[in-house]
Formats: sequence, C-alpha cells, structure tokens
Amino acid sequence: MKNYIQCSTNSEKIGLEYPSRCPICGDSIMPRMVQNFKNLKINIYSFLFECPSCGKGFLSHYESSNEQEIYQTSRYNLLKCVNVFPKIPKEKEFDNSLKSISPNFCKIYNEALFAEIYGLNEIAGIGYRKALEFLIKDYCIYRHNDEEEKIKKLLLGQVISEFIDSSKILNLSKASAWIGNDETHYIRKFEDKDINDLKRFIDATVAFITYELISDEAAQFVNS
Ligand SMILES: [Zn+2]
Repeated sequence: MKNYIQCSTNSEKIGLEYPSRCPICGDSIMPRMVQNFKNLKINIYSFLFECPSCGKGFLSHYESSNEQEIYQTSRYNLLKCVNVFPKIPKEKEFDNSLKSISPNFCKIYNEALFAEIYGLNEIAGIGYRKALEFLIKDYCIYRHNDEEEKIKKLLLGQVISEFIDSSKILNLSKASAWIGNDETHYIRKFEDKDINDLKRFIDATVAFITYELISDEAAQFVNS
C-alpha cells in the first residue's frame, strides 16, 4: 500500500511503499513511520520505522524514482526503497546427516554467506573455497575411515581424485575446487566463472552427498 506524505525536511509531497517485513523479527507488518528527512546534497530520504510486532526501530533509505502520481488532486513524487537496515542474515540450514559428518563445513559456509550478504565478496569466495575443502575431506574420511590421517594431509585436488567414487560428486567437487582456487589465487584461470558458479556447484555437491548420507541411514535401518 502506498503512503502519501510530506517530507519533514522540505515539505515535498512524496509517495512511497513502507517496508512490509520487519528486518529484525522477520514478521509481515505495517510499520509506523516515526521520522523522516531528506539530505538535499545526495537526494537520499531516510526513514525511521517502528515495528508493531517486536517494537524495535529500523531504518530505510529511499531515492526518487523520477515518477509522479496524482493523489487527491495533488502531485506526489514517487520514491523507491534502496536499502533497509539492520541487515540480519539468515543462516542456511543443512540436513542433520551432513551436520554430523561435517559441522565445520556448515559453520564456514554460513560465515562465507554472511560475508557475501554484507558485500564482502572477496572474502566470501575464499570462505566458500575453505568450506568446500572441509566438506570433501570430511565426506571422504566418513567413507574411508581408515585413511583419515592421509586425507587430512593431502591437497584437496588429490583427495578428490583419489577418494571420491561417485562420478557425479567427482565432477561437481572438481568444478567447485577449480573455481574455488581462483578465488584464493592472485591470477584467475577461469575468467567466465564467479562466486555464483562456485556456490551452485557447492550446493549441488552438498545435495548429492546428503542423498548418499540419508540413503546410508535408510540402508542401516532396513538391515537392522
Ligand atoms: Zn519486528
């Protein structure tokens, strides 16, 4: 629903959508607008809202959309929201089977995800690469318990080619490792691949490994 108000700074007539979700508690809301001002130098409108669910205040930035609308015979400049604060990222949930064989992967992946949400893309890429290493090594240790010490010491690429039997997981983990290495090295080898490709490959690797873990669990159940 659009709100038609006057800007506190210069009485400019403005029309805007208030945020429909609280960035703090996540509830769907109709927030109460507490205060607003416009900085005339940078043409950014700042709004303080109060969430009726959790009672906390949050901030939104708006800018002009260069469109106007007539409302009750007056002309209003329409604004568009460009940012809502605070940004509280939500962790990605992994299946319990995966959490139990590689808690470190889940932790590092989520740290990389938070870095990505905060716009720290260089660090996020390195984080995803590190998460991948824990995922693959922990998975291979789970499959080849007696080789734990060897797997821990080998380079990721060697672990992948020596210990991964499933051809699908093999290709996915190889592709993830190649792009992941690019994220950590000074010179890029694969200019056309980026952090989104890395994440897609890691997510698919996670899916296949999780399938395997869950079907192992089912097999144990059936055989017992
Ligand atoms: Zn709230």
